[in-house]
Amino acid sequence: MKDKLRIIKRQNETLHKLNKIAAISKISPIETLREALVIGKEHFGLEFGIVSHIVEQDYTVDVQSTPPNTLHDTQLFALGSTYCKTTLEIDDVLAIKDVTTSKYAGHPCHRDFDLVSYIGAPIRVNSKVYGTINFSSPKARQLEYDSTDDEFMRLLAKWAGSFLERQITLDELSLTKKRFEMIFENNASGIMLVDETCNIVMVNKRFCEIIGYSKGELIGKSSRHIHLNDPSNKIITDNFTKVKNDSYQKIEYQLKRKDNKAIWCEFFGSSIELTKESTGVVWSILDITTQKEMQEKLELQATTDFLTELYNRRFFSRRLEEELSRVKRNINTTSSLMMFDLDRFKQINDSLGHLSGDIVLKKFADLLKHYSRKTDILGRIGGEEFAMILPDTKLADALVLANKIKEEFANKELDIDGNKLHITVSIGLTSFTHDDKNYDTAIARADSALYKAKENGRNKVEVEVFN
Ligand code: GH3
Ligand code: MG
Ligand code: MG
Repeated sequence: MKDKLRIIKRQNETLHKLNKIAAISKISPIETLREALVIGKEHFGLEFGIVSHIVEQDYTVDVQSTPPNTLHDTQLFALGSTYCKTTLEIDDVLAIKDVTTSKYAGHPCHRDFDLVSYIGAPIRVNSKVYGTINFSSPKARQLEYDSTDDEFMRLLAKWAGSFLERQITLDELSLTKKRFEMIFENNASGIMLVDETCNIVMVNKRFCEIIGYSKGELIGKSSRHIHLNDPSNKIITDNFTKVKNDSYQKIEYQLKRKDNKAIWCEFFGSSIELTKESTGVVWSILDITTQKEMQEKLELQATTDFLTELYNRRFFSRRLEEELSRVKRNINTTSSLMMFDLDRFKQINDSLGHLSGDIVLKKFADLLKHYSRKTDILGRIGGEEFAMILPDTKLADALVLANKIKEEFANKELDIDGNKLHITVSIGLTSFTHDDKNYDTAIARADSALYKAKENGRNKVEVEVFN
């Protein structure tokens, strides 16, 4: 009866200690384990407590609670010299009250470390042997180990195993997080995470450089204020659905920097799970403003005459071709074409020089610009030859304008380096309809009318109609 009471009392004490261990709230994982070792030592009445990590034949002290100047954390031993080797072999609790009188007499651990009493159990982490948790002493233990001690040891090893498992997972998580932050923050592309309503969730350093705002000025705010043109809700929703469905989206889009400068960006978007319930978009962003400007400049150079800033011959022909195909598609549409050739221009070059000639060319181009509508298409198609397409303009109306230009130019006194000049222009006019086969026939008519204007004494407008 007395024995039974003693066992129950001990079991209660053990339970109390296990509860104490479960309730340890040390900040560092190492100190949590050390605290558990202190409770274990007290329970067994032994001076040495160790959590070991075993890799092949190396036994490393992960954490210890031992008398001063005996052991330290991270100390390395050969597994063969420890009782733990035997613990792993039996794969369960090994309890030795007094090694000298046990079947383990002469064990290397007694010989090498003078440890007489021991209790230890294997720790498993993620179902694999990690090491042991063990308690020992250079003195023989007074009491025999009983089944409560074994059970306590097993529970302690189980607790240590799941504690280390959680710790390893947390370490891996923190490493993954650190790696992610490193890649995100130091990426050469700007990165912006937005939620379904276009609110900014995250941005990296490069994106802040591109847009000129700080993180604090962006995060939590709507991304709409950095769009150059505030998009409609429908555009936002459509874009979002596209990224979500196709999982990858590449677009060129204009943003507005904090200094109000418009920039061109290339966006690569993928959908991303923000929380279990909500999806967002992660945009990887490159500032392509310089390339865009360069491209626009090259396009301008390829299509424009440098001196007059009108379309060059090649691009003008393309526009004429396009206009003719538009007219061919609309039976009731008539458009007109004018060709201009400055009269006796060679004389100006000969008398005043080429540069003065250039000024005259520019002045005439300005006059054309002044008289043209937004929809009219102007080109310099030769040295002192110009042309104008007048979409949706009947011949009669075009004729009125041609005469106006002719008169205006003839009456204009040009001041070229102090020389007062009056120069005239000859104009050939035609209209084109869906009956025109191609733009060559229209050009030929305008050309022939221009020839007639020259023949008839210059400073004239002549017309040639389709027949
Ligand atoms: P017409 O009344 O018969 O048209 O006589 P024209 O002298 O205007 O005609 P012509 O075709 O004989 O001469 C055109 C001149 O235009 C010849 C060329 O030197 C000049 N010219 C061509 N391109 C340029 C240019 O870019 N700048 C200048 N200044 N002159 C040019
Ligand atoms: Mg000419
Ligand atoms: Mg000429």
